[in-house]
Amino acid sequence: MAKYSSQNPCTWCDGCGDYGIWTAVKRACVELELDPSEVLMCFDIGCHGNMSDKVGGCYRFHGLHGRVLPFAAGAKIANPKVNTIAFAGDGATFSEGMNHLVHAVRSNYPIVCLLHNNENYGLTTGQASAVTRQDIPMNSSPNGIPEATLNPMDLVFSLSPTFVARGTSCDIKQLTEIIKEGIQHDGFAYIDVLQSCPTYNKFMTDEFLREHCSSVGSDYDASDIELARKTAIDTEDKIATGVLYRAKNSRPSFVGRLKSREGKKSNLVEEVEKGDVGEFMEELV
Ligand code: SF4
Repeated sequence: MAKYSSQNPCTWCDGCGDYGIWTAVKRACVELELDPSEVLMCFDIGCHGNMSDKVGGCYRFHGLHGRVLPFAAGAKIANPKVNTIAFAGDGATFSEGMNHLVHAVRSNYPIVCLLHNNENYGLTTGQASAVTRQDIPMNSSPNGIPEATLNPMDLVFSLSPTFVARGTSCDIKQLTEIIKEGIQHDGFAYIDVLQSCPTYNKFMTDEFLREHCSSVGSDYDASDIELARKTAIDTEDKIATGVLYRAKNSRPSFVGRLKSREGKKSNLVEEVEKGDVGEFMEELV
């Protein structure tokens, strides 16, 4: 099997949680024995987006701010054989990309959405995002944000998801298992990863995550959506991690409901008529 790159995907700040997330993604792909040629990783704009230049082996795409989900969904529909992971940040996803998240959940596109949730816009030097806690001073809001903080889990659960999980960048072992389940889920797998950003988020440190996060454990019933929603949004005492919701009889994914594809043995990528574009390219160079 070809190899995934083992470079540190983040060369910007020491101690960034991006490294833990990438390690978990790589382990999940290797443990599922996915050849890199069977994996497409799509990156939004953000610190995590630097990974698109650092990771190796698999197919990669680096898109526009907040737009990673429609690209990943389109690629998956064109070639359902490819395991597609969309890496997104909390800044873009819960602001300019919000509409895409809403429609991705309701469409149940069979892709993984891995949210690097560091509760700020790290790439643009520490502005508050929609999920930044109210009393945390950030570079653009030294007195804290005046708006209410958005609860990502509450939003996602309001859209009837089929798979919701939460992990942290400092528990690579648990995150690896969550990502493996997400990749194997035939539908939209939303994975919220609480990620340390030691440079700009002085509140949600690795120490904070270790102290406040707690796995739901093996007795937890992940098929009960009401329990899952309550468990996910109630973070007062403890922040629950693990696969929080997995629909028992999951509705078919978007690809599985496409009438026009019923009975087809080939996929759209294989059906594209092959042509020589050399002539047109010459005009451009
Ligand atoms: Fe990581 Fe934060 Fe640095 Fe971005 S600003 S690379 S999220 S530590």
